[in-house]
Amino acid sequence: MSATAGPFSLEGKAALVTGASSGLGRHAALLLSAAGAKVGLAARRLEPLVELERQIEAKDGRAIPLRLDVTDPASVADCVSTAETELGPISILINNAGVAETKPAFEVSEEDWDRVVDTNLKGAWLVAQEVAQHMANLGHGGSIVNMASVLGLVAGQQVPAYVASKGGLIALTKALAAEWARHDIRVNALAPGYIETDINRDFLASEAGERLRKRIPLRRFGRPEDLDGALLLLASDSARYISGTVIVVDGAQSVTL
Ligand code: NAD
Repeated sequence: MSATAGPFSLEGKAALVTGASSGLGRHAALLLSAAGAKVGLAARRLEPLVELERQIEAKDGRAIPLRLDVTDPASVADCVSTAETELGPISILINNAGVAETKPAFEVSEEDWDRVVDTNLKGAWLVAQEVAQHMANLGHGGSIVNMASVLGLVAGQQVPAYVASKGGLIALTKALAAEWARHDIRVNALAPGYIETDINRDFLASEAGERLRKRIPLRRFGRPEDLDGALLLLASDSARYISGTVIVVDGAQSVTL
């Protein structure tokens, strides 16, 4: 069976992935493309996106690089309208751009707080609102997947702004699912545990990381491909009656004491 056939096929659909220049966003873009979607690759730096575009086109996929700063409403509007002009109506948004800051709560400055919350929560909101407005105007519905975190469900040490931003994103997911259902727009969140990427590579390799790994019931950190099943489910029509939910992919970490 071809990767583009079957219940999780995205053939003929256009998707936008934010934060596609590295880590989970880059992986998600490759996954959606392999499932048949045309993909808008959005991030602040164009260079890695152009390289990813080449990689996707080498496999006969279709992708375009798009400059995007999710904290800037004008950049968000430009990005979504260019994606739509180039790829057609966007029916999938992987709202993935995010940053983390690890510091004891007493040391977090207002600037640190703003950077994390403006990117992870306000930025996700700005992109979701813009994409959903296009979906509603064109009347074709769609699926929004917000990249939250288990740290939006349970607390972690020394990441207060991150925990607040991801908790807020999960609450926003529910609010938007309830409100945009009338436009046939589904809004769900994915809550990964620790998946090795640039955002956490140094920490996971440290002694503290090793102690953490031993407390994960499945005894390992996640890999980007561990999210594939949940991502394809939420993005595809197989999830046509799933909205307002959070799928946790964390090796059972967050259910243990
Ligand atoms: P990463 O640092 O590799 O990727 C983050 C991406 O977001 C990059 O492409 C970066 O350029 C982009 N980005 C940051 N600020 C941006 C802005 N203002 N505008 C546009 N793009 C911006 O990290 P990652 O691990 O791939 O993280 C991706 C998402 O997954 C984040 O939202 C993160 O919080 C979430 N997440 C990661 C893990 C993990 O363990 N890796 C776990 C749970 C959730």
